[in-house]
Amino acid sequence: MDQDVAAKEQPRYIKLNERDNVAIVVNDFGLPAGARFASGLTLRAFVPQGHKTALVDIAEGEPIVRYGEIIGYALSPILAGEWVDEARIRMPDAPALDKLEISTAVPAPLPPLEGFTFEGYRNPDGSVGTKNILGISSSVQCVKGTMEYAVKRIRAELLPKYPNVDDVVPLTHAYGCGVAITAPDAVVPIRTLQNLALNPNFGGEILVVGLGCEKLAPERLVPEGVDNAIVRMQDEAFDGFGAIVEAIMTQAEARLKVLNTRKRETCPASDLVIGLQCGGSDAFSGVTANPAVGFAADLLVRAGATVMFSEVTEVRDAIQLLTRRAINEDVGRALVREMAWYDSYLARGGADRSANTTPGNKKGGLANIVEKSLGSIVKSGSSAITGVLSPGEKATQKGMLFAATPASDFICGTLQLASGMTLQVFTTGRGTPYGLAAAPVIKVATRSELARRWKDLIDFDAGKIATGEKTIEETGWDLFRLILDVASGRTKPWSDRWGIHNDLTLFNPAPVT
Ligand code: CA
Repeated sequence: MDQDVAAKEQPRYIKLNERDNVAIVVNDFGLPAGARFASGLTLRAFVPQGHKTALVDIAEGEPIVRYGEIIGYALSPILAGEWVDEARIRMPDAPALDKLEISTAVPAPLPPLEGFTFEGYRNPDGSVGTKNILGISSSVQCVKGTMEYAVKRIRAELLPKYPNVDDVVPLTHAYGCGVAITAPDAVVPIRTLQNLALNPNFGGEILVVGLGCEKLAPERLVPEGVDNAIVRMQDEAFDGFGAIVEAIMTQAEARLKVLNTRKRETCPASDLVIGLQCGGSDAFSGVTANPAVGFAADLLVRAGATVMFSEVTEVRDAIQLLTRRAINEDVGRALVREMAWYDSYLARGGADRSANTTPGNKKGGLANIVEKSLGSIVKSGSSAITGVLSPGEKATQKGMLFAATPASDFICGTLQLASGMTLQVFTTGRGTPYGLAAAPVIKVATRSELARRWKDLIDFDAGKIATGEKTIEETGWDLFRLILDVASGRTKPWSDRWGIHNDLTLFNPAPVT
C-alpha cells in the first residue's frame, strides 16, 4: 500500500481497555497532525503507526494506562491528541517480589477440546516428534569444524539413502572447555546440552562427538543405558582426520538406519509440545499477534498439549498478573523464584530489566519494558499456569508452563528445545528471519504491512485483527490449524523452505576461565 492510499484511509486507533488513557494508531505509516478519528479526537502532531496518542489530557505525574495497567507516569503535561513517545514517560518500578498475590485468581479449567490430531513421529519413550532428525551432540567447541565437515558429507553421501530422515543437525556450541565446570550455575548449560539431545525430534538416537581433554566429559551427555555413543577425537585408535570422520559417519549411518524406520502416525494434539516466543516486538504485538497466539494457546491447552512461554525480562513487569494465575502455591513460588534469580543475575552484571527493550522496539511504539511485558504475556492465553521450568529443564507436565529463559531469541529457542519443544510459534512486529534447524518455527507478523512485504519469510499474518477484517478468535483458530499442519509436515514454514536457521546458543550464567 502506498502512502497516498494510506492517507485516504479512515484514521483508526486501538484502545484495549476501558481504563486506558492512551491508544495506538493503526494506519500504515502513521497519521499526520489534524487527522480526526471517528471518536472526534484530533491529532495535534504526527503519530507513527503503532505509537500512542493521548485520548484525554494527562497532567504531569499522572499515570499513563494501557492494557488497563500503568505503563508509566507523565513527565510533563500531555494534551489529548499529542504523541506520547517514550521521552514523555517515566517508567514505574518493577513489582516487588515479596508482595505478590499467589493463586488468588486461578482460572477455571477450560472445556476440553476433543478430536484434533496431527501426524507425528512417536518415540519409544512416548514423546512425539514433528520432524525426523539425526541430532549429533558435541561436548566442546573444539570439535565444531570437524562436525560440520562430517555433517556435510553425511548430508551428501548418506542422507539420500534414508529418505524418511529429514536432516542431520550438528548440536554445536561454544561451551565445554575454558569454563568453570563446577560453578553452581554451570548446571544450566550442562542440563541444556543433556536435554537437547533428548528432544523428541531426534527420535532418541544419541551420538556425541568429543575431543578428549575437555572439562565437559562427553559421557555426561549420554543417558544411562546407552552404549557406544561417543566418538572421541583424541582416541589413539584414530590415525588422522580421515579416520575420525569415517568413525563419525559410521556411527551416524547406524542411527540413520534406525531413524529411517520411523513413520508419521496419527497422534492426539495432546502430544504436542509448543514453544512461544516473540522477537522484534512492536506496539501491535500485544494487540494482534500475541492475542491470536494466546487464543491458539488456550485451544492447545484445551486439547491437552504442553505449551510454554518464556523470556523472564518480558514477564518480570507483569509478574503480578501471572502469580495470581499459578495453579497452586508451589507453581506461584517457582515463578517468584525464577524472577528473583534473574533479578540478581542482572544486578551482578550491573543491569536491570530495562536493558531488554531494543531501539527497534521503541521505534515500533513500545515506550518501555512495562508496556512490552504487558503485550508479551498475552501469548500465555487465559488458562492456569500449571508448571515452571528452570532454564533448560525438561517439561513433564501438560498445560501452560512458564519456561524461564532470557529473552534473547536464540537462547530462548535453544532452551525451549532442551525443554522438549517440538514446534515454535514466534511473533514479530519489526520482522526477523529467525529459524531453528531442530524444530519448525511458525513466524507470525503483528502487522499486515510486514506480512505483505516479507511474504516469503512470514508464515502467518495476525495484522488483520488491527484493521478489523478478522477477529482474535478466527485468527487464533487459523493459527491452531496451521500448527497442526506444520507439526504434521503438511506445511513447511519459510525458514525451513529456505533452510535458514540460527545457531544454537547456550545460556551460561557461570564464569568462564
Ligand atoms: Ca525473544
